[in-house]
Amino acid sequence: MSKRKKAAVDPAVRADALRDQIRRHEHAYFVLDAPEVSDSEYDALMLELRALEDERPDLVTADSPTQRVGGEASDQFAKVRHRSPMLSLQNAFDESEIRAFDKRVRAAVGDQVVYCAELKIDGLAMSLTYSRGRLQRAATRGDGTTGEDVTANVRTIRSVPLTITPASGLPDLFEVRGEVYFPIAGFEKLNREMEAAGKPRFVNPRNTAAGSVRQIDPNVTASRDLQTFMYTLDPAGPANSQWDVLNTLESMGFRVNKNRRRLHSIDDVIEYHAEWHRRRHELEYEIDGMVVKVDSFPQQLELGFVSRSPRWAIAFKYAPEKAETEVEEIACYVGRTGVLTPVAHVKPVVVGGVTIRNVTMHNEAQVNEKGVYVGARVVIHRAGDVIPEIVSVKDPQPGWRMPAKCPVCGGEVVREEPYIAHRCINPFCGAQRLERLRHFAAVLDIEGLGYATLTQVIDRGMVEDPSDLFGLTTDQIKELEGFADRSAQNLVDRIAAAKHPELGRFLFALGIPQVGGATADLLAGEFGSVERVRDAGEESLRAVEGVGPSMAHEVFAYFHGPGAELVVRLLGAGVVPKEAEAIGEGPFTGKTFVFTGTLETMSRPDAEAMVRKLGGKAAGSVSAKTDYVVAGPGAGSKLEKAQKLKVSVLDEDQFKALLPK
Ligand code: NAD
Repeated sequence: MSKRKKAAVDPAVRADALRDQIRRHEHAYFVLDAPEVSDSEYDALMLELRALEDERPDLVTADSPTQRVGGEASDQFAKVRHRSPMLSLQNAFDESEIRAFDKRVRAAVGDQVVYCAELKIDGLAMSLTYSRGRLQRAATRGDGTTGEDVTANVRTIRSVPLTITPASGLPDLFEVRGEVYFPIAGFEKLNREMEAAGKPRFVNPRNTAAGSVRQIDPNVTASRDLQTFMYTLDPAGPANSQWDVLNTLESMGFRVNKNRRRLHSIDDVIEYHAEWHRRRHELEYEIDGMVVKVDSFPQQLELGFVSRSPRWAIAFKYAPEKAETEVEEIACYVGRTGVLTPVAHVKPVVVGGVTIRNVTMHNEAQVNEKGVYVGARVVIHRAGDVIPEIVSVKDPQPGWRMPAKCPVCGGEVVREEPYIAHRCINPFCGAQRLERLRHFAAVLDIEGLGYATLTQVIDRGMVEDPSDLFGLTTDQIKELEGFADRSAQNLVDRIAAAKHPELGRFLFALGIPQVGGATADLLAGEFGSVERVRDAGEESLRAVEGVGPSMAHEVFAYFHGPGAELVVRLLGAGVVPKEAEAIGEGPFTGKTFVFTGTLETMSRPDAEAMVRKLGGKAAGSVSAKTDYVVAGPGAGSKLEKAQKLKVSVLDEDQFKALLPK
């Protein structure tokens, strides 16, 4: 797909703009309890700012949201200065980040580390001060230093004890901290009541809990059935660890979450985290991750704090697999065969642990079926390695149209029946040329020949088609942005190393319409040499199992059209594909194999050659016609597909057992 270049923005200007936006969203979220964007959109802005500041520490300002906690305290309530700051937590969004945290901890305090893992309750932080066993004051976190006095409201929450018998060893005055939250059932009931009264629904339990605590009239708070979980005791008295604190709080009558565990390794933490990810729907409250704390207080002391958070704790978040955002533009990208693909550019959101900015849709029909338009609020789904997708649109509106002219070359765009796709039919379209070259380089594994370099060699008139790549010299490449003597020489060497590809790879790299890797392998296996594929008639192409009439037509048309000259030029440039061994007769006759993952005792091309020699076919992708999938370590989607289609899966040893002795 051709990328559109965005004008480079000055990092200082960008950082300023991000800070402004983040502050505005924090105010809406923490002070007004009425977020304007989803958490995922906010998280994406914060991640971008953090990355910018990491790269350019000179841009960090003292009042940057990365250095401060939450929002300011509202004037509606008396302000309260916290005895010790109420901080936020560092975040880990995936396994590598939690392992990095573990490494930092061990580097500082040594290898004897025990973690206390607790659920991360999605509520609002609350500080309760007790004096001589009586609740004296309840305060919100505010900006971490100054919070709001919400005592009258918090008194109405039934699980907050108004009087207690302090555990032995505690001073007269101490503070308990924890989370106030809205149980899911209560939240749903409240929304049903709102709906019945014709009022708008509340957005989420977390902001509704915060709004309920920060009411002028305590009766409103009392009507909301809020709940609490407490986890901090300050000072901790005789307790010497987080685990002790949780037990002490429980014994004094505070509500403490039972789902907690002391764990002796980061692997156990990761497993416990995964367990609660699976089981989170069993809970009567929302969680957004797990808080992992170094259990021992002496070790916590040693680790200390950074500006915004303790170094001994981390929020190991669950990556939301769905997130809401807004469509800013629907652009069209032109592929190597001229097909136009609509791509929704969205306000960045974090989904499934990564920041999403673009969501590809297949064609005009799909955009309209979903009712996507510029300005639409959309929900994006992405799980694991799955490509992001728009799953729903608020207020869908059909009517989006493909442009009549190619957005890159201005050429005519047509939809040729029976295809659903729109294509730019100008064979000289710059986007198509770039994509064809990129495809060629990617299929032949020519590292370092990405869009940026290809755009430069095209713009400078050095390259028109793939055969020109083999004539590039070190001197020419040295002139390009991003290259020096050594890197230019390396690229020339890598291009030269691609001169003898497997025939199937070579045919795939040509970019013949409709011919993917698997079909290219079939053609290679059947005809054995590039000349024989080129000279094959439409009839004999159609006779190849797995090649349909329209595909046979495209292959024939290609070699009698644009491909004829290109193949001559490539051969002339010294490209000599390895001739595939013609399929023999043998025990594998009629059987199709697909190899995936790493083989340990042979290379994949060797294994495929062996299959062909014994009469079988080696294909690149799994289908219902596949007989065996040979899966080694690292096997991914092909293995999954094989399991779905119930194709026999062999490991390397089982495959070798099939070979004649
Ligand atoms: P955080 O919520 O990510 O983590 C820190 C908080 O976790 C602590 O203050 C504490 O209240 C809480 N917590 C829950 N269980 C805990 C436990 N067992 N032990 C210790 N602490 C526990 O950080 P944050 O700075 O409070 O807020 C950031 C969150 O707010 C993010 O999820 C962000 O998406 C959201 N946010 C959204 C918007 C928006 O506009 N949508 C704006 C600002 C913030």
